[in-house]
Amino acid sequence: MQYADDRTLRARLYRAYATRASELGKSDFDNSTLITKILRLRAEEAQLLGYANFAEVSLVPKMAESPPQVAAFLREIAAKARAFAERDIAELRAFARDELGLAQLESWDLTWASEKLKQARYAFSDEEVKHYLPEPQVLAGLFRIIETLFGVHLEPDAAPTWHPDVRFFRIMRNGALIGQFYLDLYAREEKNGGAWMDEAISRRRLAQADGIQTPVAYLNCNFSGPVGGKPACFTHDDVITLFHECGHGLHHLLSQVEELPVSGIHGVEWDAVELPSQFMENFCWEWGVLSAMTAHVDTRQPLPRALYDKMLAAKNFQSGMQALRQVELGLFDLRLHSELEPDGNVLELLAQVRREVAVVTPPDWARLPHSFSHIFAGGYAAGYYSYKWAEVLSADAFAAFEEGAVSSGSVLDPVIGEKFWREILAVGGSRPALDSFRAFRRREPSIDALLRHNGMISHHADIDTTRPTPA
Ligand SMILES: [Zn+2]
Repeated sequence: MQYADDRTLRARLYRAYATRASELGKSDFDNSTLITKILRLRAEEAQLLGYANFAEVSLVPKMAESPPQVAAFLREIAAKARAFAERDIAELRAFARDELGLAQLESWDLTWASEKLKQARYAFSDEEVKHYLPEPQVLAGLFRIIETLFGVHLEPDAAPTWHPDVRFFRIMRNGALIGQFYLDLYAREEKNGGAWMDEAISRRRLAQADGIQTPVAYLNCNFSGPVGGKPACFTHDDVITLFHECGHGLHHLLSQVEELPVSGIHGVEWDAVELPSQFMENFCWEWGVLSAMTAHVDTRQPLPRALYDKMLAAKNFQSGMQALRQVELGLFDLRLHSELEPDGNVLELLAQVRREVAVVTPPDWARLPHSFSHIFAGGYAAGYYSYKWAEVLSADAFAAFEEGAVSSGSVLDPVIGEKFWREILAVGGSRPALDSFRAFRRREPSIDALLRHNGMISHHADIDTTRPTPA
């Protein structure tokens, strides 16, 4: 759909894909009755447990407090992103008409035309960026950020490992051991794909006089390793992934809780657990921080600013439309599990949600619900909103550091870092995540920082920023 120049082929593929698992596709795979059955069973479960609807049940272990609160949250994003989404679609339509000869932009043209527009306006080479991000520079940069923010020292440590590539480090503070972690960065044939943080040992108080058991984490990635005697070089996405997993690692390792069930990430609400990880990602987009951890693998030159500006513009490409798309899915999921009557019309509800928030509407025959596996086959029923929720929290937490930088000149502020540790990382699941957030920001979460980071800057932006909007 992204690269096929044959419009007829795109139209055929789109129709097959958009109708899969529905009454318009192969009858063996029609999910229509399953949708009704699943919704009916969920409503019954809610009733048995004494809740008004399934969305209420879903929110019990989550940070969000009620379905109306989540709906208001999603609608606020929709309202603020709308003008930017309209600008995005207008830009795409004009480009498709003038440069691609498409008078009418159809659903099956969107991804393809967007790719062409992105290439025309915002293209840069991942490979070129990669040369500026050799591993020693990136790791030193990451460690310095952690050391500066939290007043700790990261030192090489020794432990038996499962592979010669695995390294082991300890985190010290004022001469005391805080925690340790394994770092296993490179892809190997026998290794699981993706990237993840896992806990080897959690912090807790031991019986009698044994004192505190300090935590140990595994940080795993699948980056390409060193070749030809040169250090490994990471893509910018790799670096973001590394920072993300490190955020989970810090949540686990900097815990100050002594009770195992709420130590580290244990017991943290489901929609708040990505706060520290996504928070750490922000540093990879901060010009001062990012440029300091770049050095071209051959020339030692730092990342050129012009290249960074392109990376940022590409990141924020169509961010308005993307935000509305996430809101559409989240609001549909929420209303499906809180407002729809038993045996109500699922497609009509989706159409209503689209009339309210969408700037592009798929054809009548498209059947999104039938393959919306997150909410019917995954664990995201009345929980799809949590993607945006976690992004808002992490962006708003990071904004505390940006606001600090207005006077101190750097986002790497140890005073704010200490507070972030104390109020967010240290407390784990020992109190509600919303209380932790309020303790850190001294106010309710706000969506403004996320919009600003995505290039959706309103005239009310309260602080200046080095992040430009897309050209
Ligand atoms: Zn994560």
